Amino acid sequence: MFESITKSLGSALGNLQRGRINEANIQEAIQEIKQALLEADVSYDVVDEFIKTVTQQSLGEKVLKSLKPGEQIVGIVHQELINLMGPVDHSLHMRKSGISIIMMCGLQGSGKTTTCAKLAKMLLAEGRKPMLVAADLQRPGAIEQLKTVGAQVGVPVHAEDPKGNNPVKVCQNGVAAAKKTSSVDTVILDTAGRLHVDAELMKELSQIDRKLSPDQVLLVTDAMTGQDAVRSAKAFNEALELDGAILTKLDGDTRGGAALSVKQVTGVPIKFIGVGEQLDKLELFHPDRMASRILGMGDIVSLVEKAQMQFDAEEMEKQQERMAKGKFTLDDFHKQMKQIKKLGSMGEIMKMIPGMGGMADMMAQTDGMNPDKEIGRMEAMISSMTPQERQNPNLIDRSRRNRIARGCGSEPGAVGNLVKQFNDMAGMMQKMAGMGVRDKMRAVQE
Ligand code: GDP
Repeated sequence: MFESITKSLGSALGNLQRGRINEANIQEAIQEIKQALLEADVSYDVVDEFIKTVTQQSLGEKVLKSLKPGEQIVGIVHQELINLMGPVDHSLHMRKSGISIIMMCGLQGSGKTTTCAKLAKMLLAEGRKPMLVAADLQRPGAIEQLKTVGAQVGVPVHAEDPKGNNPVKVCQNGVAAAKKTSSVDTVILDTAGRLHVDAELMKELSQIDRKLSPDQVLLVTDAMTGQDAVRSAKAFNEALELDGAILTKLDGDTRGGAALSVKQVTGVPIKFIGVGEQLDKLELFHPDRMASRILGMGDIVSLVEKAQMQFDAEEMEKQQERMAKGKFTLDDFHKQMKQIKKLGSMGEIMKMIPGMGGMADMMAQTDGMNPDKEIGRMEAMISSMTPQERQNPNLIDRSRRNRIARGCGSEPGAVGNLVKQFNDMAGMMQKMAGMGVRDKMRAVQE
């Protein structure tokens, strides 16, 4: 995601880091940043405001006179991106006792029903006892779909016959049912959507809002729809006073502008992001990580968090220590690959590692290159090495390369490439160990 914006911002800032800095070329880079944001579907007003702030700060004496003005401007852009998207209050302000009600709304196809189940799963993991209520009586199949996803995440679903029924009643009945049992403390209302914002929909949702007084009203909006997502967020917010937004489909080929505009245009923070169709693909929204991701720094923190959920914690800790000390060996690399494979598709993961996003794209574009297969090949090569070679890849000379290649049915050149890639990566890790964010950003851009 954010490919186009990352590329153009990267080139604008990259140009700035070469050559001498003066007011004219700072202005030029800022114009490129402006273009990149507009192309990424960030709304014009937001871009205008953003550019004004960045220009003002970038043309300040401090930047012009500093030894590394490019770096300073990257820092300014990074901080302004964070300001644009934050601050975020992730809390859903649940009641300590009684039933908490979360009302989910959004246009048809935004991912509302799926997100209800994702949120229920997340709440379950936090020890809450959620129940879903099928109040979308509009979309054919919505009730059945909610029952299915509810069963998949293991939460009860309150559903009624849609014929002649009305959604307010269904929600009220759902909450009444929840109150009768001790196995529910949170009710998530899956309300109806439409293809476009219309008065009838807003009336229905306002009624639910008034009659049920939900603790949280969350808007589910599809990042792939760009400016439409922002426009619908504005309309929903005017009718309902939203508490937060959930931006879905950020895993897709989105230009990402919506993430940058939703908060600014509506004042409503994005609390969560949907990053895949599966029901565990809901994450907390972190403006700082998103800003880093947009700037092509990768999202190493998210990756580490994701990893920690599935990795062997002790092993992770050992590896992190070794990385921090710059003592990373091919053995560690091998172990890491094995663990990484548990996380899912390689292409997706590589995009989160600083500097590797481009490589994932390149692999995907090159015929027959599949990152997952590549990992398998690398693993086979490392398995053919002796323990000494894994500890110290510099031992691997031509005859050892030939032997390793024979052992795993590969080419000696491929073994050479692996060693080279590993050395580059280990070098980068050593450089990054102990660096602050700015320095890391520079290291990745160099
Ligand atoms: P609703 O009409 O708003 O209830 O939308 P659905 O929940 O039926 O979702 C519409 C489509 O979007 C379905 O195919 C979902 O699997 C898909 N979807 C939902 N969230 C995400 C997401 O975060 N990423 C991706 N790639 N697809 C999603």
